[in-house]
Amino acid sequence: MRPLRYTRATEVEQAVATVSADPAGAFLAGGTTEVDLVRLGVAPHDLLVDINDLPLDDVEDLPGGGLRIGALARMNDVARDPRIVARYPGISQALLLGASEQLRNMASMGGNLCQRVRCAYFRDGVSPCNKRDPGTGCSALDGQNRGHAILGTSEHCIATHPSDVAVALVAFDAQVHSIGPSGARMVAIEDFYLQPGDTPHIEHPLEHGELIVAMEVPALPLAAQSLYLKFRDRQSYEFALVSVLAALQVQDGLVADVRLALGGVGTVPWRARRAEAQLIGAPATTTSFVDAAAAELRLAVVREHNAFKVPLAQRAIVRGLSEAMAVAAPGGPR
Ligand SMILES: Cc1cc2nc3c(=O)[nH]c(=O)nc-3n(C[C@H](O)[C@H](O)[C@H](O)COP(=O)(O)OP(=O)(O)OC[C@H]3O[C@@H](n4cnc5c(N)ncnc54)[C@H](O)[C@@H]3O)c2cc1C
Ligand code: SF4
Repeated sequence: MRPLRYTRATEVEQAVATVSADPAGAFLAGGTTEVDLVRLGVAPHDLLVDINDLPLDDVEDLPGGGLRIGALARMNDVARDPRIVARYPGISQALLLGASEQLRNMASMGGNLCQRVRCAYFRDGVSPCNKRDPGTGCSALDGQNRGHAILGTSEHCIATHPSDVAVALVAFDAQVHSIGPSGARMVAIEDFYLQPGDTPHIEHPLEHGELIVAMEVPALPLAAQSLYLKFRDRQSYEFALVSVLAALQVQDGLVADVRLALGGVGTVPWRARRAEAQLIGAPATTTSFVDAAAAELRLAVVREHNAFKVPLAQRAIVRGLSEAMAVAAPGGPR
């Protein structure tokens, strides 16, 4: 039996001060990840500070057409918010394709961004794992690595980032707003996620005790034509082998604007910037999509069991862009 301390915070400053003051402290939102990791002995926390009474669960309009999503807004509530559905359908779809109905009712947006990897060696609590116990090695390099990443990896960690909605947020240049012991700050979401390099235990720039209060998605007309596709071993209640967020604007047969991001293949939610750069100004054709997908995957580093992700990701990109083009066409499906 492992004794745990539990307390509820009613103010942001109180939550931040309580966790900051205790190296074994952690925030507890929906608990759908944190409780598992504490039970498994993977999270070294014995003080859980429940943040569910904090007033951080709204979705608010921003001047100019963007949205501010509170860190405690639940995945299902955000997915079904009519403004999200209309302006950022890719966010709604990414949320609804994640976890299960019950989990999405509990799970918060802030907790989703901070969820830990699903690598079995990380979660078993005993295998060598640089992310859990820095310096012990990476069991996945020569082990069971079928679900592991092929982009953004290092010799120290190849775990895939598990969040679906983070892929959509990366595609739309969202910002993460937080309050910590050093005050309030904002970080672009692409800078929020850190590739493993030689410090895989550091996943984001949050200080200990720093609380995400919201994420802001800027106004982006193109996002209204976005879609999210997810490919996995079974059709529900499963993490992505590959996923793709695509949005496309075509003028006179040429790609005028594009957003493309990948899940299931990167150590971070992967913005496909090489493919985007190659597509801008190119004919909006399958040939261009195939070439752009190949350019993005050129840097893939595969292991014994995950090489299949390269062609799967390429096909997913082509399909995502083709379907996004159909959505963007006048009278196309919405
Ligand atoms: C069976 C299963 C299947 C799943 N499938 C998917 C899937 O397909 N796609 C997907 O994207 N996700 C999936 N998930 C993950 C799920 O989305 C996350 O568990 C959930 O979003 C976490 O939110 P939470 O509120 O429960 O966080 P918690 O478990 O309460 O917290 C998670 C972590 O975030 C920290 N934290 C929480 N809130 C904040 C905050 N505001 N600021 C700073 N730190 C914070 C906590 O301290 C903890 O370390 C699945 C989970 C399970 C259990
Ligand atoms: S891939 Fe990362 S999380 Fe998995 S065992 Fe290696 S270091 Fe640990």
